Amino acid sequence: MIRVAVSGAAGRMGREVVRAVLEAPDLELTAALDTAQIGQDAGLTAGMPACGVPISPWPDTAALGATAEVLVDFTTPASVADNALRALEAGVAPVIGTTGLAHADVERIADAARRHGVGALIAPNFAIGAVLMMRFAETAARFMPDVEIIELHHPAKLDAPSGTAKLTAARIESARAEQRTGEVPIHSVRLPGLVAHQEVIFGDLGQTLSIRHDSLDRRSFMPGVLLAVRRVRTFQGLVVGLDAFLEG
Ligand code: NAP
Repeated sequence: MIRVAVSGAAGRMGREVVRAVLEAPDLELTAALDTAQIGQDAGLTAGMPACGVPISPWPDTAALGATAEVLVDFTTPASVADNALRALEAGVAPVIGTTGLAHADVERIADAARRHGVGALIAPNFAIGAVLMMRFAETAARFMPDVEIIELHHPAKLDAPSGTAKLTAARIESARAEQRTGEVPIHSVRLPGLVAHQEVIFGDLGQTLSIRHDSLDRRSFMPGVLLAVRRVRTFQGLVVGLDAFLEG
């Protein structure tokens, strides 16, 4: 059994993760951390039967290290870096789904993962379809370098542009570097009714190519999250993007 702590357990994504961990036979939910709904049973909060794990504030480093092997974080851009650094200090492998990290935060997490010899993952999108969308876009960019990205999300999303759009743009920019330099334009849409969507549109003489992914439900992210929880400790240092976890 892999002992899992979920940070942001009372949030939209955190509740889905709690549910997925409770349903997985090889995973054990050992801590549910949040700043909201303290004292509530994490299972009940996630719409499951009570599981006996109350939502609690962050413990100290030693207590976290004694409780969990993997930390899944779906919180806020303001708290995610500190959460990940505390986990790494405790020898706990962070699986980070929170988006909006500053470049300097990513560097700090990479440095801490290296120093502590612990695996860590930052994945702006855990949906397999979104991972494939990024791969296909990277391939297309070598042949069709004129491209723009439209990302569309629910209005409560705190960061714009999305982490998925930024990672897609970075991958396209390096794939098309020989034909074209400069940043790929990203357009952000925030509307009620949306979950998480992205369209990558390539243009060429007399033709366009659109690669689109839609997450219609937050459950779309859970197979990727569980894969990461099961594999993160087999890596050393920071990995960015779920791709490396899909192969082998
Ligand atoms: P949300 O509903 O606002 O949930 C975030 C939760 O984290 C809230 O309960 C919040 O409590 C709590 N929190 C804030 N600071 C905390 C701290 N220091 N320690 C513990 N918990 C803390 O947000 P969401 O929609 O679940 O999204 C969370 C993140 O996941 C966002 O960055 C989003 O972009 C990202 N996301 C990633 C993926 C992916 O595939 N990687 C997919 C979807 C979303 P309060 O309400 O008290 O602030």
